[in-house]
Amino acid sequence: MSEVMLQQTQVARVLDSWRRFLDAFPSPSACADAPLASTLRLWAGLGYHRRAKALHEAARTIRDEHGGEVPRDATTLRGLRGVGEYTANAVASFAFGQRVAVLDTNVGRVLARAVANRTLGTREARDLAERLLPARGVASHNQALLDLGAQYCRATPRCASCPLARACRWNLDGGEDPAPLSAAVSRRQSNFEGSDRQVRGRIIGLLRSEEASMTAVVAHVAPVERARVERLVTDLVKDGLVERTGRRLRLAAS
Ligand code: SF4
Repeated sequence: MSEVMLQQTQVARVLDSWRRFLDAFPSPSACADAPLASTLRLWAGLGYHRRAKALHEAARTIRDEHGGEVPRDATTLRGLRGVGEYTANAVASFAFGQRVAVLDTNVGRVLARAVANRTLGTREARDLAERLLPARGVASHNQALLDLGAQYCRATPRCASCPLARACRWNLDGGEDPAPLSAAVSRRQSNFEGSDRQVRGRIIGLLRSEEASMTAVVAHVAPVERARVERLVTDLVKDGLVERTGRRLRLAAS
């Protein structure tokens, strides 16, 4: 659950929601047995609501096809809705001690700068991450790389205080920063303020507490123009996050 929440949201914003989720759904089956609307309500503040729907679907797959137990290996985890390579490997490594490399934007920067000192393609980054896995303590190794990338080897690196500084190839050899165009390194996100993502979040925020008419939704997100709101509501219905009955809109129940 935490890995899905952290896919596009920072740790500080996830903590409260994660605790609320665990209180409400102490097992995958508890989440699966509850209506989707319950998951969407608990998702308040996290954004990217398709992840909540995917998490709910994954919980139902775990309940129906895996006896209520989260699969332990990355390949089976990849079969769950909303679980990509990073999330599958992170769960397999951190929860179950499997020998798999965890590669995200933070690790991608460390590999490109400290190890290769050149831009890495997707296959190269994955192969390099796997070659670096130690014989033992794989989860700690993966966590250390994630922390290095998050604390020191950031988009603007903090080389002066970095514990890898004396072994880092880019720090020692210099040259163009190889990280920005490397595999797994995310590009800068578009502005949130005024975006469709923000308006979608505000629509769902209203429907979390009450059913509403389109007119009420338009008033709630004013001054966004009505045509844009109608398009976003249509998308939310298509995504299975919102239901429309006659003129009423509500969070999807199932
Ligand atoms: S020394 Fe600088 S570039 Fe190298 S790993 Fe540390 S923060 Fe990244």
